Amino acid sequence: MKDSITIKHELPCFCVTKEPELVRTRTGKDICVTMGISTVPGPERCPVCGSPMHRHGKRSMRLHDIDLLGHLHIIIVAYDRYCCSCEGCNHTQMQEIAFKEPGHSITRRMGRRIRTRLNCGAGISETARSLSVHPSVIYEIDKANLKAMLDGVAPPVCKYIGIDEFKLHKGHRYATVVTDLATGRVLFLEAGKSKEQAYHFFEVVGDAWMRHVKAVSMDMNAQYDLAFRERWPGIRIIYDHFHLVKMYNDTVLTAIRRRKQQEMLESGDEKGYTLLKNSRYLLLSKMDTLRELDRQAHENNARLHEMYLDKGRPLPPGERIRSPYKERRLNDILAANEDLSVCYLLLEQFNLAYGVTSITELYKGMKSWMKLARQSAIPELLSFCGTIERHLMGIVYHAKFPISSGKVEGVNNLIKTIRRKAYGFRDTEYFLLKIKFASLRGPYRYKSHTFL
Ligand SMILES: [Zn+2]
Repeated sequence: MKDSITIKHELPCFCVTKEPELVRTRTGKDICVTMGISTVPGPERCPVCGSPMHRHGKRSMRLHDIDLLGHLHIIIVAYDRYCCSCEGCNHTQMQEIAFKEPGHSITRRMGRRIRTRLNCGAGISETARSLSVHPSVIYEIDKANLKAMLDGVAPPVCKYIGIDEFKLHKGHRYATVVTDLATGRVLFLEAGKSKEQAYHFFEVVGDAWMRHVKAVSMDMNAQYDLAFRERWPGIRIIYDHFHLVKMYNDTVLTAIRRRKQQEMLESGDEKGYTLLKNSRYLLLSKMDTLRELDRQAHENNARLHEMYLDKGRPLPPGERIRSPYKERRLNDILAANEDLSVCYLLLEQFNLAYGVTSITELYKGMKSWMKLARQSAIPELLSFCGTIERHLMGIVYHAKFPISSGKVEGVNNLIKTIRRKAYGFRDTEYFLLKIKFASLRGPYRYKSHTFL
């Protein structure tokens, strides 16, 4: 009875000298070890001086190959060292190993397998564990792979772009992201959030590309507008709705709520203070949303009462009685705080004024809104009006270019997910490559295998 089979190794320029055999490692794991020699012809002439080269000693190295019959496969390959015959040159060269992945102690087919897993969305540690390769090798291969894939790809022509900043790491380091607003594709990423980054973006994409851009959407307190005004005055800067509402929420509603709370605390108004406590979400929600939430809460509570509480059974894990009085609570807060009530209503007015599709009407709407807001004489509202006044043209032109920053927000969420998945990247360049790759949708993402 024969208890062995011979398998074709399919490695180029490799001659097996010892068939695979199972070896038990110190950790008690069985691995397959194959020995052989590289048969790539050695160099005949010295590349430096042209003299003949001769063989001078032997070396061997271990290469990590893909699994063989379910075991980790190590190939020990012997190769020659060549030396120049010319005196004084001393040039040495190693015999090539045709199936070795450049720069790593793994075979090329192992490199291909690693890239395939990574392109399917596997993380570094999962890939490392499943293939028994050190994570640092996977990381280097992934980085080189992403670079090769993304560097050569020219961004498609876009009409509308968005430029925004995002937090790079915990702390105060920021990066700039430029997004194609039609597809959500990340066009440019760089650490830093000053106008320099906008200039670098212009350099990277080139003048011909920039001529197609009609409008750019950005945040009012960012510094990118200077760069755009200086270099591309023809491109309209648009301050879009998302950023405006966010700014209103932060600098008006939240600021007033904090001021009120502080005042109540100092004057000993405990009742008013408790009412305002944990009200951030309520104040930043629309009345309709709260009404819908209340309806859902009622439904949920009625169901739980019917199924469990009325029968004296405990609630199952994950189920709870929800408060159905969100709308009422918001009304109470607004009734007790005049400033908040005014600002809450003015936000609704602002949204209405912003929704029009003609430039003149939007201009008129904004002007009359500001008049209304200034009459209130609330300090937070006055400073918001000042900001609006300074950026009025960018706001008004939204009527002509109704850009939505939904895609920018999508990219921001993507960034958060990637950062969480990687537990914080220490290598910024790699982090940025990952974001860029993840933002490619559809065929681009699947094209990756053509680079293998
Ligand atoms: Zn030489």
